[in-house]
Amino acid sequence: MSLLELDHVAVRYGAGRHALTAVDDVSLAVEAGTSIGIVGESGSGKSTLARAIVQLVPTASGRITLDGRDVTGARGSAVRHIRDRVQMVFQDPFASLNPRRTVGATLAEAVGLNDRRASGGGDRQARVTELLELVRLDPAARYRYPNEFSGGQIQRVAIARALAAGPRLLILDEVTSALDVSVQAAILNLLRDLRERLGLTYLCISHDLSVIGYLCQSAVVMYLGQLVEAVPCADLFSAPRHPYSRSLLDSVPQVRGERIRATASGDVPNPRFPPPGCRYHPRCAVGPLAQPGREACLQRDPHQDDGRAASLNGGPVTGPGSGAVGGRFAACHFPLGAP
Ligand code: ADP
Ligand code: MG
Repeated sequence: MSLLELDHVAVRYGAGRHALTAVDDVSLAVEAGTSIGIVGESGSGKSTLARAIVQLVPTASGRITLDGRDVTGARGSAVRHIRDRVQMVFQDPFASLNPRRTVGATLAEAVGLNDRRASGGGDRQARVTELLELVRLDPAARYRYPNEFSGGQIQRVAIARALAAGPRLLILDEVTSALDVSVQAAILNLLRDLRERLGLTYLCISHDLSVIGYLCQSAVVMYLGQLVEAVPCADLFSAPRHPYSRSLLDSVPQVRGERIRATASGDVPNPRFPPPGCRYHPRCAVGPLAQPGREACLQRDPHQDDGRAASLNGGPVTGPGSGAVGGRFAACHFPLGAP
């Protein structure tokens, strides 16, 4: 049994003319003890997917199972079931912490909410010390307010607060994206150590492929709300199958290279009106605009083409909707590297 399973999950914002499907038919299984990355350009639905998992946004359809329990549309005790197991850390920790409370008060509250064993004040303070030490902050940091910390330090506080619940799964949404490069490395090292020490599972969202490569064994690539590729990281970097994944890799600036290559050509289409057929076709380097005769891309969404895409990609994965990681899958009529 997977720790987390998403089964054909969709999330929509708005209604009528303004409706937008931010997450479209996403299936994914996350095994305990693994780290999975979610990559994709801004607006591809990564944060929405994360928010759906912790029920910060409702799902329009599909099912979310956490630790064997269906938590779709969770209320009451199911919310507790989620909060005890899953915590999120965001890009901007200052926004998620109360500026008028000391770090110690914030952490003590998180401990009290989540750790039924730490009932007395002394227990809580001991646990706060432990949490601060876990994230390598001086225990005296408890007396300070958020604005007295640097960006990297406050992100440590946010991680400590997430850990107060004793979660099994941490969802890390762009947690290093707002930090200086030197600070990023320290936070990434810390996250890797914490995973080993506490046996955590990570769902790690980033538009930065190097972050995913450092923290995760496998990755899923999202485009306009859909999962377009599921792949072990080693293969993502050496031999991606989806042309969109390829373009993401090519767009990583190479400081020592001859020039910085362009990202996927053209802009991301309006998600309210996704292109027909394969959503990526208007930008695809090997699609119908580049290679005449590739009519399939204009006519059929590879996600609706279960058997065909699965066999084309040769993996053990059951269908394009099932981004089960471990096997590979690419929702593409003409995947790269196919004979
Ligand atoms: P990512 O995290 O990959 O950048 P998001 O999940 O934030 O993507 O956004 C996915 C899509 O949903 C985008 O088109 C975004 O504009 C839209 N969106 C996000 N949040 C809301 C919201 N609260 N209301 C309406 N649309 C939203
Ligand atoms: Mg986001």
